[in-house]
This record gives sequence, C-alpha cells and structure tokens, in this order.
Amino acid sequence: MNSISELHKESGFNRELNMAGSYYVATANSRSDSKALADDIEADVCVIGGGCTGLSAALHAAEVGLKVVVIEGGKVGWGASGRNGGQLIPGLRKGPTELVEMVGEEQARALFWQGIEARNTVLGLISRFAIECDLVLNGHLNTAAKPSHVKYFDEELKTLRNFGYESVEILDQDETSTRVGSSYYGGLLDRLGGHYHPLKYTLSLASAAETVGVKIYENSPVLNLSKGPNLEVFTAQGRVRAKRIVVAGDAFLDKLYPEIEKRFIPIGSYIAVTKPLKDPTAIVANDLAVSDTRFVVNYFRMTPDGRLLFGGGENYFPKPPRDMEAFVRKPMAEVFPQLATIPIEYCWGGQVTVTQTRLPHMGREGEIYFAHGYSGMGALMSTHAGKLLAEAMLGADTGLDLFRAITPPAFPGGAVLRGPLQTLGMLWFALRDRL
Ligand SMILES: Cc1cc2nc3c(=O)[nH]c(=O)nc-3n(C[C@H](O)[C@H](O)[C@H](O)COP(=O)(O)OP(=O)(O)OC[C@H]3O[C@@H](n4cnc5c(N)ncnc54)[C@H](O)[C@@H]3O)c2cc1C
Repeated sequence: MNSISELHKESGFNRELNMAGSYYVATANSRSDSKALADDIEADVCVIGGGCTGLSAALHAAEVGLKVVVIEGGKVGWGASGRNGGQLIPGLRKGPTELVEMVGEEQARALFWQGIEARNTVLGLISRFAIECDLVLNGHLNTAAKPSHVKYFDEELKTLRNFGYESVEILDQDETSTRVGSSYYGGLLDRLGGHYHPLKYTLSLASAAETVGVKIYENSPVLNLSKGPNLEVFTAQGRVRAKRIVVAGDAFLDKLYPEIEKRFIPIGSYIAVTKPLKDPTAIVANDLAVSDTRFVVNYFRMTPDGRLLFGGGENYFPKPPRDMEAFVRKPMAEVFPQLATIPIEYCWGGQVTVTQTRLPHMGREGEIYFAHGYSGMGALMSTHAGKLLAEAMLGADTGLDLFRAITPPAFPGGAVLRGPLQTLGMLWFALRDRL
C-alpha cells in the first residue's frame, strides 16, 4: 500500500486531493511559481516546507537579519495551510480542563495563553503586512452534539474563567438554534474566534516573507538532510548548507525525519462547498465559525458569497475516499437535512497531523528546529509556532520550552507501523459518535 505522501507525490508532491479544484484556489490570486533549487547555496536558516509554520519561521528569522531560504516540495500554501477550514479557534485542541488534569494548573494556564497569543501573532501579521484574507472575527461556536456534552461546556467555562479568559459564554439549546439551523443541544461561544481564507493568508505570508528578504524555492522536495558535522539539505538538483534547519513539513515529510514523525499520525479530512444559498443566515447566523463536539468533528461556516463551507468525515486509511463529495455530503446532510440535495460545487481534502495528546509537537535537536501536529487546530498555532522557533534561534527559548516540556509520546509502532495500529483505535472512537 502506498504511503500517504507517496499518494501526494504521484501527481506532484502536495497537489493531490483536488487542491486545484478547491474553492480557495478558485478565489485567491494565483502566485507565480518560484524557481526550483538547482545550485549549491548557503544560508543562516534553511526552512523545509512552505506552509504557515515554515513561512512564519522564515519571516521572523529574516526580520532580525538572518539569511533565510525556504525549500518547498510543491507549491507554497498547497499543504494544510492553504486548504484548511479557515476556522480561527483561540486556544489548543486539548480542552483546558483536560489540560489541567494532564499538566497541572500553572503549566496548563501558560500553555492555554500561548493559544491566545497565537491569535495575536496572526492578527499582528495581518495588520502589519496589510494582508487581505476575508478575515471575519465574529466568534467561534462549539456546538454540543450530545446532551452529555453540555456538561463538558460548564466545566470548560469554569476552567477558562479561572485562567482569566473572559470572552466565552454558554448558549442554551434555543440560543444555539438561532445561530445554527441544526439540532444541537447547546453551545460554547468564544467571541474572539473567527475565520479567514487560508490560501489568501498563506500566499500573502509568503509575499511578506519575501519583502523582508526570504528566498523561496518551489517544486524542490527535500530528499535527505545531513545532521552533521555540517547541516545540509539535499534536493534532486541542489544542496543548502545552513547553520540552522527548520523542519516544517507537517504531514508530508515521508520519513525525512522519523524521530519526529513517529509522534503524529496523518488523518484525511475533507471539505465541500455548496452553491450559494438563498438564505445563508438560516444555516449559520452572524458569520460565525462553527465546529461540533463529535470525535469526527464537523466544522462549517459561510463564505463571503453565501456558500456553506463544510468539513466533515475523517479517513484513517492512506487512500482518499473514492467519491470525496459523497463522503462529505453524508455528515453535511446529517447536520443540515434541509441541504441534503444541494449541489456541491467544490470539494477537496487534506492531511491533518494528530498527536496522542492532541497538543502540538515542537522542539529542537541542536540547531534543527521543528513544529507540527497541531491536531486540527493549526490555523493560528502554525504561524505562532514559526515565530517561537525563530525566537529560539536567537536564544529566547521561553515559548518553545513550554511546548518542549509536553513532547507527545511516540505512537506504538514508530514511524512505519503506527498507521495500522492507530487506524483501529480511531475507528473505534469514530464509532462512538454513532452510539
Ligand atoms: C482539510 C483540513 C482542514 C483543517 N481545518 C482547520 C481549521 O479549520 N482550523 C484550524 O485551526 N486548523 C485546521 N487544519 C489544520 C491546519 O491547517 C494545519 O495544522 C496547519 O496548516 C499546518 O501548517 P504547516 O505549515 O505546519 O503544514 P503545511 O501547511 O502542510 O505545510 C507543510 C509544507 O511542507 C512541504 N513539505 C513537506 N515535506 C517536504 C519536503 N520533504 N521537502 C520540501 N517541502 C516539504 C509541503 O509540501 C507543505 O507545503 C486543517 C487541516 C486540514 C488538512
């Protein structure tokens, strides 16, 4: 069976899963391709991967005067960063109450506030570089898919208030139904949440990085890296000798760095966009970003032209579903039966990296820095992680150290066998959504 990244490489590295047919590619300005690496070059920092983690690390390192190159295997922004649901959810994927149970109150509070700082990092860049990315900051609503999940919201609210985070409120079933045209049991509204156009944002981040001196190479998969005595990165036709390397390939690394890859598993996630709705506010009011409490999360929002953008259904097998549209239509029709037959005009998929703790894996091994495994909440955190990596290069490790202290355990089976074992576990949890 092919590995997931082999599937991507078949039609040009990260171009699989119909990114070309996505709503985002149809509505973002295209970026002219950067040339491929075809020389031996030197840099202070060589970043592998042109998603938000890599571009942000590059931008922040270049801003303090370092010579930075980004080596992207496919097209900048065509990984998860440019194809995600665009939901900007403050915090971390692991809920604050569970986080306290895991690491104690003090550490949980510090980690949680990094999740809020991630929002500041992204909004700061949007403002500083005048990034146009259809940003809407009307809030994020987490909806309860089962009556028992409402109690979970009570606990979350208590912990958040204890952390000094005041922007959340609980909505009862009636209040929730005035915002979402579906039958949920209640909601937890975070007024600081929102959504954006992820491809517009990522491509603009690349342009911003270039304006501060970053050199980007595309269509240059890194095939190997040498850890010493000199740090070197090899592509088919070129080589970079660097003082530091940032590994920011997320799901697509393909055994380039097995020591870190064994700590996450890639999961397929799929998104459909309907034709424009007659009454979008009857489906989602106030332009909220919404996701529910199912193990296989449904996430949705409206586009500026009144379409429903719906993400749902997960795939734990390397091959994508044969009929992606039917795959997403199923959960969409369960949540919104009134849209069961609405035409879907765009559909695509991507790979989410998930860790055992649902917390990101960030760190360094000497002068090799890495961050990934945002477990479905990387739209804000990836940019922030890139900034933390750049700060650590300059000796300010405080932010990175917080995450190094919670390094997620390796999945049983290591980088090679972790897939089949985890597939069984994931299928079991997904089944529980139905019970
Ligand atoms: C379908 C989907 C929906 C999602 N929805 C949301 C959401 O609504 N909200 C949210 O917060 N998060 C969401 N996420 C998660 C979020 O998108 C990711 O966590 C985040 O974008 C990861 O950014 P990254 O830069 O680390 O990785 P990526 O954006 O994947 O970038 C990695 C880049 O590295 C390149 N690369 C990899 N290996 C190599 C190599 N060997 N040589 C050269 N280049 C290489 C790849 O081509 C790719 O461009 C979603 C993810 C997916 C897939």
